[in-house]
Amino acid sequence: SLTAGVVAVQGNVDEHADAIERAARAHGREVTVREIRDSGIVPDCDLLAMPGGESTTISRLVHGERIADEIRDHVAAGKPLLATCAGLIVASSDANDDRVDELELIDASIERNAFGRQKDSFEAPLEIDGLEEPFPAVFIRAPAVDDVGDADVLARWEGRPVAVRDGPVVATAFHPELTPDSRLHGLAFFENEESIGPALEEPA
Ligand code: GLN
Repeated sequence: SLTAGVVAVQGNVDEHADAIERAARAHGREVTVREIRDSGIVPDCDLLAMPGGESTTISRLVHGERIADEIRDHVAAGKPLLATCAGLIVASSDANDDRVDELELIDASIERNAFGRQKDSFEAPLEIDGLEEPFPAVFIRAPAVDDVGDADVLARWEGRPVAVRDGPVVATAFHPELTPDSRLHGLAFFENEESIGPALEEPA
């Protein structure tokens, strides 16, 4: 069975764990989910999720607990990472905020809290590359991507990129873990050839 890790320093950890389990079931995979609060666990993981929360806090904690380099090694080995909301900000190459020490896993620069006050939180049906039907995307004080560099844009909202892929990394400005729809987790972890890599190719 595969081992999934959810970075558990902040954010919707249980919701991501549930979504990973649902997506795995939908793809005929078995998965064991582990929570990551300390270094030493990421190297055992075949796939990783980095939830939202507050990006300056998550940045401080992943670097402080020496998880950051392990996440970089995971991605360098071609293993999938799904980074959501504040996770996208931390995974980016430029958060436009000195308090965020970016992991530079996605060639993209970010504008934090990009969707304005009156739309602090909203849900929108989002067309996403690779999904047939629109995805119910929940945005909560969401960032947007300013400049994509080498990353591929998978979805836009109001013309701005809100889901991107860069090699084994899929990152969203919204919260796919907050809906019963696990297709985005499926896309990030169990469908993309590039993303799947040798670590996931085991007999069913
Ligand atoms: N606004 C948060 C930040 O900039 C992200 C919000 C979220 O993860 N829901 O860090």
